Amino acid sequence: MRLRRLFLSMCLVLTVTCHTLRAQQFDDYFTDQTLRLDFILAGNAAEQHIFYAGATSYAGWAGRRNHLSEIMLRGNGQLFMRDHRSQQLIYTHTFSTLFQEWVSTEEATRTSRSFEATFQVPYPKDSVDITLCLLDTHGQPKTTYSQTIDPKDILIRKVEPSDGTLRTLKANGKPSECVDIVIVAEGYAEGETDKFFSDAQRAYDALFAHEPFLSLQDRFNVVACYLPSKDSGPSIPHHHIWHTTACQSHFDTFYTDRYLTTSSLFRLSDSLNGIPYEHIIVLANTGNYGGGGIYNQLTLTTSDHRTFSQVLVHEFGHEYGGLGDEYFYDDQYESIYPADTEPWEPNLTTLHDFSKKWADMLPVNCAIPTPPAKIPDYRKARTAKEWKAIDEATQRIGVFEGGGYQSKGVYRPAQECRMKINEVTHFCPVCTRALIRMTDFYTRP
Ligand SMILES: [Zn+2]
Repeated sequence: MRLRRLFLSMCLVLTVTCHTLRAQQFDDYFTDQTLRLDFILAGNAAEQHIFYAGATSYAGWAGRRNHLSEIMLRGNGQLFMRDHRSQQLIYTHTFSTLFQEWVSTEEATRTSRSFEATFQVPYPKDSVDITLCLLDTHGQPKTTYSQTIDPKDILIRKVEPSDGTLRTLKANGKPSECVDIVIVAEGYAEGETDKFFSDAQRAYDALFAHEPFLSLQDRFNVVACYLPSKDSGPSIPHHHIWHTTACQSHFDTFYTDRYLTTSSLFRLSDSLNGIPYEHIIVLANTGNYGGGGIYNQLTLTTSDHRTFSQVLVHEFGHEYGGLGDEYFYDDQYESIYPADTEPWEPNLTTLHDFSKKWADMLPVNCAIPTPPAKIPDYRKARTAKEWKAIDEATQRIGVFEGGGYQSKGVYRPAQECRMKINEVTHFCPVCTRALIRMTDFYTRP
């Protein structure tokens, strides 16, 4: 008993010491403010450029205070902040962008375009060197931009908090201790405020009805932000509908009818200034099917389609967990995941460096590639027993060929998963672990 007490007291001392060290590390370099950095990403399939577009600041930093200089996932782009004098890396952030998706389209082989990108970083006490890097499909730097930021620069615009109408859906702790999500109204006209807050509550309920979010829900803060739109509903170009809305979102991104995104990231970020958030869910007021999720940028989803819940969770899986799509076509996008590079998405592999993926979760003597099992057709499943059989079969971990839009050369961890089809009710075990790890990264020492 005495030994146990001694051990416990040692743990307490160590814990206090570690907390003190962590606090000092953040406080050594940063103040409790947010620095928002805006960039223009421009170019075409052959070459890309990065331009600094300005900075703003406001009180409070809602992001992580641990693992400041660590990277959880490589992403398609990286931001590094180094102390200018010592060149010590003091903060990193990884992300993907709509621009990089566009660069892979046919349109980018014949035109040049520019896209907005905005990043929130903790406000430095001293001058820092910011480096923004866009990676190619091999994970190699394709475009890099660096500049020194002086925190005393008088042109860093100090902004007032958003005048959006806020409603807290869940408050579990300080923003510095929790993952902070803001659900933003898009295409809700004056008079649709109540509908938005009702829809936002449904979004919250849908997300946290799913594991692992259900078990992790005490580590999240969620706030809904009503922004008025002149028109009701997002723009639908294939129906020749262009609306004036808070986030200027639209379907038909890259001429794909169901791909709902917004290119107006500066405007969106302006409308959220001062709200403690790390992740954005834009809730578009429409019954149309569609959505989009970009890693560490934003999730878009529609409010009234019958698959609302599934699409929201799938897209948030992209944005929050960096999960890749597990569905595939007939080699339509074969250049996205080259065979000589391990994808950074935790639920896809080319087998180039599989040991870093879910090799530790495979059953003994698992065949690679894993032959798919015969499972009931989910389209014909009607009874609870049939659904249970599908659920159990789809939780079997393997290395199934086909994923990341490619039928060959890319492998996924389960036959079916929320990142593959809407009909499955859950994430596969590998996606689940990835989401737990990401949440730990944000909220645990
Ligand atoms: Zn999965």
